[in-house]
Amino acid sequence: MVRMKSHLYKVEPYVPGFQPDGKQPNVKLNQNENPYPPSPRVEEALKQVSMALLQKYPDSRCGELRQTLAEQYHVGEEQVLCGNGSDEIISLIFKAFIPSGSSIVLPYPTYSLYPVAGQLHDVRPIHIQTRHDFTIPADGLISTEAEALFLVNPNAPTGLLLSLHEVERVVKSFKGLVIIDEAYMDFAVPNASAVQLTRRCDNLVVMRTFSKSYSLCGARVGYCFAHHCLIEALDSVRDSFNVNSVSQVLALAAMKDQNYMQTTAAKIRSTRDAFTGELRNLGWDVLSSQANFVLCTPKDREAEEIYAYLMQHRIYVRYFRSPRLYDKLRISIGTDEMMEKLLAFLK
Ligand SMILES: *Cc1c(COP(=O)(O)O)cnc(C)c1O
Repeated sequence: MVRMKSHLYKVEPYVPGFQPDGKQPNVKLNQNENPYPPSPRVEEALKQVSMALLQKYPDSRCGELRQTLAEQYHVGEEQVLCGNGSDEIISLIFKAFIPSGSSIVLPYPTYSLYPVAGQLHDVRPIHIQTRHDFTIPADGLISTEAEALFLVNPNAPTGLLLSLHEVERVVKSFKGLVIIDEAYMDFAVPNASAVQLTRRCDNLVVMRTFSKSYSLCGARVGYCFAHHCLIEALDSVRDSFNVNSVSQVLALAAMKDQNYMQTTAAKIRSTRDAFTGELRNLGWDVLSSQANFVLCTPKDREAEEIYAYLMQHRIYVRYFRSPRLYDKLRISIGTDEMMEKLLAFLK
């Protein structure tokens, strides 16, 4: 009998939010998907996809997409890499930079894929607890002996933003590689992104994705910025054709319609802030989110009970049966109509 590599037996698999079959109408607020469709320019680009495009191998470098991203973010083209979702980029980072048997440091709570990806590569996660109010104690992270430090900013599932000043301090003080996952940065206040730091710091990778703010979860395109030496290393360990041609075309069209992304992100921010106010009026405790979801603590009833009750009515929110989160719900921000439906049930 062929057996898996022994370290893989310890891996606790990543658990995504429940995915209903979609046959019945539902309100899906459990995977931080964007409630607005992708830009009309993406639809147009999809219609233009030809048999000739499918017949050939994709551009291995994602050249046009890299160039567009470099222009958009004011960095050199040699500082950009695209992947099959940021999930692939996470895996490339482990492959290229983090030796098996070493450790990574990350706050708790954060995106639970990181510890899983660590275990898959035989790397030990060291969790540093966030403070009582879920803010991140940067010094605790910096002083940990680890090969790499992971931060999601704004953090998931809290939605809390670490200031650029603090992020810069972390990058400059930590001895190893720092990875900042900015999957939700387009929903945050302006000028909080660490992308520009990659021009000066050679121990920093900043990750972004088309999944959330560009409504393209299904296309699977992520990208990252780093010093060109780090990008070269990531390029050398990736599959030759890691982003398919259709997704390259769709991502390019989405990136070129900044106006649409900014407009829909602004709507989500405004829905988020109104929804936060509504929950607080009900007496719930709600963290001030800079992302497209809120982490909240219900009043009078158990979070798990509310989660199950909503599920029966095909309203899906996220419940984590884990330390410090078991009394909370993470609710993605949908349209105003979706949030009103949810609020009607909560009231
Ligand atoms: C959703 C999410 C991503 C996006 O992953 P993709 O693989 O690009 O879809 C990345 N990081 C965090 C923290 C997320 O929540």
